[in-house]
Amino acid sequence: MSNQVKFLTKNFGQYDTSSIGSYMDIGGFEALRKAVTMDPEKICDMITEVKVRGRGGAEYPLGRKWSQARAVVGENKIVVCNADEGETTTFKDRELIQKDPFNLIEALIIAGYVCGATDGYIYMRAEYACLRPLLLNAIRQAKNYGFLGENILGKGFDFNLHLYSGGGAYVCGEGTALIRSIEGKAGRPRMKPPFIKVSGLFARPTCLNNVESLSIVPHLLVDKGRVYASCGSGESIGTKMISVAGNVNNPGVFEIPFGTTVREIIYNLAGGIQHDREIQLIQFGGASGKIADASILDTPYTYDDLRNAGVMVGSGGILVIDERTSVIDFLRMNQEFFSEESCGQCTPCREGNLHIKIILDKIASHTATQEDIRIMATIARVMSMSSLCGLGETAQNTLQSAMLTFPEVFEVGGTES
Ligand code: SF4
Repeated sequence: MSNQVKFLTKNFGQYDTSSIGSYMDIGGFEALRKAVTMDPEKICDMITEVKVRGRGGAEYPLGRKWSQARAVVGENKIVVCNADEGETTTFKDRELIQKDPFNLIEALIIAGYVCGATDGYIYMRAEYACLRPLLLNAIRQAKNYGFLGENILGKGFDFNLHLYSGGGAYVCGEGTALIRSIEGKAGRPRMKPPFIKVSGLFARPTCLNNVESLSIVPHLLVDKGRVYASCGSGESIGTKMISVAGNVNNPGVFEIPFGTTVREIIYNLAGGIQHDREIQLIQFGGASGKIADASILDTPYTYDDLRNAGVMVGSGGILVIDERTSVIDFLRMNQEFFSEESCGQCTPCREGNLHIKIILDKIASHTATQEDIRIMATIARVMSMSSLCGLGETAQNTLQSAMLTFPEVFEVGGTES
């Protein structure tokens, strides 16, 4: 299939995911063997050189994050893999876990070595329970082969790995809520500071990473960044795992080089729109992402190009909605999601999501006034500025981008059917 490269996906289908021996037959754990002979700071430099940005949505440079984690003073540091992947239309981490579980285990051990951690945790969303046996088996085998436990590869490095499943709450993808959930508390975000890199899980210094961000590292170490650096340009180097869903002929997960256009993604990889219908809107980055109309099709998929076009890479999810769904109905559905998932702890998010949903319903029933629209825009702005966590801060991204892209549907007596 065109437009696909195999960097992160190169192990897919190449080994028996239940067997560490099979993984080692294709070069598994070579990256770890190499890593433990290197100065950890050099590994951070290598990651920084090829500009790996965190793939969870925040885009924080991975090399800098690991370097900062190393610099934190404190014992028994922890690395956590955020496999919560609760963002709507986003399912690329599931693919990385399912088709290459040992690469993720290897990546976490390398992260532990670089950050100076003694423990690693994988926090996996409740809906991925079917992947638990696969990961538990991989962890057990890695321990049996001496890649986990004490004195790993004879280098005096001790590291243990634990798997923890969430309870199904979207908000537990937020770092502090995730940590509380592992600790056995209600999965609700907390105020920062203290920042989790200083006082995170069990009050220990904690470095939190997304599945995809971690999964890049073993491949980088083995090929010295050559393949990775040959893809993309500017600040968007390498490849990106994306998931495409909605009214397309071939929904699924794809690895693309940064710079692939949105048109190539939707029409070549995802097979185009079902029954050749017109595109109504495209949402980038899940429910907390932003939307655009079809004028974005020739935009290259890079951090900067998408941002300049008014959207974002975010979680890597892309949802294509065809002409049969109205913009307002789509927003009502999106809003209902946040009303359900708000943890209710702070007023702007708890009340704001509900009120916006009420106004969207009024727009749909043609009973909204211009004052309602003005109030809705104000609530959205207040929420993004004053909510306690990322959920409330970003819940209105889709609405706000819709108000810019489709202003006509927010006019009283608007034109949308
Ligand atoms: Fe809870 Fe929403 Fe406040 Fe976050 S912003 S703490 S999800 S109420």
